[in-house]
Amino acid sequence: MSNVSTSNIRNVALVGHHGAGKTTLAESLLVASGSLERAGSIERGSTVCDFEPEEISRQLSISLAIAPMWVDEVKVNLLDVPGYADFAVDLGEALAAVDLAVIVVSATDGVQAQTEDAWRAAAELGLPRVVVINKLDRERADFDRALADIRSRFGAGVAPVELPIGSEQGFCGVIDLFDDTATTYGPPPASGPRSATTGPIPEDLAASEHVVHEQLVEGIVVGDDELTARYLDGETIPRHELEESLASGVAAGAVFPVLCCSGLSGVGVDRLARLLVELCPSPDRRPPVTVTAGDTLQEVPCDPGGQPLLAVCKVLADQHTGRIALAKVLSGVIQPDEVLVNTRTRADERLHLLEQLRGKEVSPVSEAVAGDFVALRRLNGTLPGDTLAPKGMPVAVARPGTDPPPLSIAIRPASHTDEDKLMSALQRLCEEDPALAVRRDDETHQTVLGVSGEVHGAVTLERLARRYHVTVEREDLAVAYRETIASPAETQETYKKQTGGHGQYAVVRLRVEPLGRGEGFTFHDEVVGGAIPRQYLPAVEKGVREAMAHGGPHGYPVVDVAVTCDDGKHHPVDSSEMSFKTAGSLAFNAALRKAGSVVLEPISRVEVTVPGEAQGEVLGDLHARRGRVQGTQGAAGDLQTIVALVPTAELVRYAADLRAITGGRGRFRATHDHYDVVP
Ligand code: GDP
Repeated sequence: MSNVSTSNIRNVALVGHHGAGKTTLAESLLVASGSLERAGSIERGSTVCDFEPEEISRQLSISLAIAPMWVDEVKVNLLDVPGYADFAVDLGEALAAVDLAVIVVSATDGVQAQTEDAWRAAAELGLPRVVVINKLDRERADFDRALADIRSRFGAGVAPVELPIGSEQGFCGVIDLFDDTATTYGPPPASGPRSATTGPIPEDLAASEHVVHEQLVEGIVVGDDELTARYLDGETIPRHELEESLASGVAAGAVFPVLCCSGLSGVGVDRLARLLVELCPSPDRRPPVTVTAGDTLQEVPCDPGGQPLLAVCKVLADQHTGRIALAKVLSGVIQPDEVLVNTRTRADERLHLLEQLRGKEVSPVSEAVAGDFVALRRLNGTLPGDTLAPKGMPVAVARPGTDPPPLSIAIRPASHTDEDKLMSALQRLCEEDPALAVRRDDETHQTVLGVSGEVHGAVTLERLARRYHVTVEREDLAVAYRETIASPAETQETYKKQTGGHGQYAVVRLRVEPLGRGEGFTFHDEVVGGAIPRQYLPAVEKGVREAMAHGGPHGYPVVDVAVTCDDGKHHPVDSSEMSFKTAGSLAFNAALRKAGSVVLEPISRVEVTVPGEAQGEVLGDLHARRGRVQGTQGAAGDLQTIVALVPTAELVRYAADLRAITGGRGRFRATHDHYDVVP
């Protein structure tokens, strides 16, 4: 593969709702640019970007994939980003690594939940954006409706640069609103790109051309105050000024061209490929990356003459090929066998062979230049998110903190053999998948996976079986209940074994009193006159603590109790730490029986972010879950954030339920807050 210079690189992410046609469009772009002979199919599982068995069986992108295409001398790295909400981690990784986001919108469905998520995430990064109205060949595809939807959701700056010719199955070309020309496509060939001819605009489309042209001008001038003023004064802005303003508006993340195409039929796709080359800034024309160096922040420009610096965006694990890390070259030129330092682990990493990834295929490259991506094998302890830097330059790419996974699922190994392999297999999966967390809950004796949603959970279990041959079963997530005393009580217990030889003797008197929620446990010594010698009191406390951990009458650990030891008796020969510990446990258990016990349940603090129109229903649902709403406040756009305290037991299926109520637009985060009496 020929080498490329930084200024000839374009990094582009295809993002949007799942099913909008991103993977098919990536395939079609590869064909249109001559980088692939024939397009694969989602249904047959033969596309470049969806290659994992879990993706093929679901016909759904699960994992970020990369495929480079060449448009003349320019290398365009296409990142196909999963649209499903469960795989949002990859969306963040991809957007952080590219210089332009292509927001793919289905012409039948318009703007959907994850279209908005992708838009919002790109907007937060100030990333240049292009919108593609895709699937225009489909039944019930409606360009006007989709465009109106895009304009109303994404507002000023949306500038349609094309208009479709024909609709549904008759979609056969596009009108270029800058050139005032029409490009129509020939029938699909057996392989290679579709032929196209360009000519004048058909008469029947002149009227709609005029309307959309006005929208184009309005969208472009928004990015430029001076042009806006002239436009509002009724001036006709010359075409060259509009073109210049479009390019600078796109680069500034203020103007968003809208294109038409069908990834499946290939109509309009070659034009999209060329537009990406024209409008996507090369990596060296984008703002520098911020890195941390100890406590200070530094800016690293994308400069091939700079120090070699790599940011690892993704680790792919495969049984056959081993682990492959996909990294972005932030600066410098990376050579094979170079030794860099992983800033997080401080360990040296030799890079060995440099490769280029296209879907799951790898091909060797002689070097990797700033702005490009490179695939690395045989890295030792490097994980997604790590930075590889030269020795003596310990900088790390500043990364936003990630929230803990919102959904917990409990699993148990299907057999003993599975049990042995389970934890190490899960560990390996976690290394590759930053959205996955694993913990062993000592209280409920469950293995709990933290996942981002039901599909992520299911995919994780399938990967466990396919890659590591570990079979697990799901079980209901056990809620960690506690108990506490219902009232104060006093008891005295004797522990005595004095038949022959060295005996056991201890008498302990205890007073127990309820503490406030979350106060835990206190132990006071009020023994006077040496009734219990000082050295035995820690043993009494230990006995009490063991009895509390062992559980009360309901079998749950006891919390929120103040225990006072105020009297007792000892024997000069037969008393020991052991006998006082046992007496302490006996006395506490007796006190607990006398005081009576109540069960406490964990309460989570939940932050739910939902669209305004769903707020009423979400609040009603939280009430039905015994939630107590603490407040609501406006979030980005039309979103509202609700804060509520909800019993953890009521949240076991909340991820799926919230998705159903809000059509996939709701998000939530739950953290343990306190324990409270079960009503
Ligand atoms: P993704 O989830 O956004 O990557 O979407 P896919 O590329 O997996 O496509 C989802 C479904 O839509 C598949 O069944 C595709 O065959 C179909 N599809 C994708 N693009 C088009 C298109 O342009 N026209 C039509 N008619 N169907 C399409």
